[in-house]
Amino acid sequence: MSSILNADLHCHSVVSDGTLTPEELAARAHANGVELWALTDHDEIGGQQRALAAARAHGLPYLTGAEISITFAGHTVHIVGLGFDAEDPRMQAGLRQTRGGRGGRAREMSDSLAAVGIHGAYEGALKYAGNPELISRTHFARYLVEAGVCRETNEVFRKYLTEGKPGFVPHRWATLRDAVSWIGDAGGMAVIAHPARYGFTPTEEYALFSEFKTHGGRAVEVVTGSHSAAEYVKYADMAREFGLAASRGSDFHSPDESHTDLGALPFLPGQLTPVWELLADRIQQ
Ligand code: AMP
Ligand code: MN
Ligand code: MN
Ligand code: MN
Repeated sequence: MSSILNADLHCHSVVSDGTLTPEELAARAHANGVELWALTDHDEIGGQQRALAAARAHGLPYLTGAEISITFAGHTVHIVGLGFDAEDPRMQAGLRQTRGGRGGRAREMSDSLAAVGIHGAYEGALKYAGNPELISRTHFARYLVEAGVCRETNEVFRKYLTEGKPGFVPHRWATLRDAVSWIGDAGGMAVIAHPARYGFTPTEEYALFSEFKTHGGRAVEVVTGSHSAAEYVKYADMAREFGLAASRGSDFHSPDESHTDLGALPFLPGQLTPVWELLADRIQQ
């Protein structure tokens, strides 16, 4: 398969922190000309059957997906898994364990916000969480907009919920090794999500890519909603340097919040191995 394919292999539904259902996303992907789709909810595969059924109804080829939160060098990093068996018991147990810490973290986030005079944030965020186990910073951000603390969610992440700001609670997620092996052992492919987003030094980034590769990681997102054109070039170079395949995904969450719509990204740059070429036999039609 060519690198000229409108593949969108990263987005979120109400099962994690998106605002559309898996069915609404499938319809939107199809309408926007997506030719290969994956729903990649955070730490959760509860939407996979619905996504696959809806994709089939539109004749849209589908790969199973998830975006796993990990801790690497003291930072939160996201690893996308594609084409794994959603029934795999170790994958399911690993995701359950990763989700497990979110409830307690959310209460601590709420306490931290209360300390600066923002009350009721836990209950407020929970209203936005379609799946209470998946309560996330995004749901808190929506509540802070509703409460009039900020005008939009991007402003929330500038002023709250991030390192050094009120509402931030450090958290230990899965390890890189565990996430990569859950995905690989379940027959899928691990992908480093939006690498430009982590604020790593070149040394830390080199360590992430090398350790990811050592543990069996296979690909990196080169074209994603949060990368600039210069970053497409940088991570295309890194993919070639590390012998990784390349992925493409909008990271679409919501028509009201996301700048990049499903299927609206540039194509992958040339001279890369598209991740869908390696996953050809995992694509469900
Ligand atoms: P959590 O998994 O609870 O830490 O929440 C992380 C989610 O918050 C990400 O998947 C994004 O959807 C959202 N997020 C994090 N940082 C930002 C940001 N700077 N701007 C907008 N959304 C963000
Ligand atoms: Mn998210
Ligand atoms: Mn992410
Ligand atoms: Mn994402």
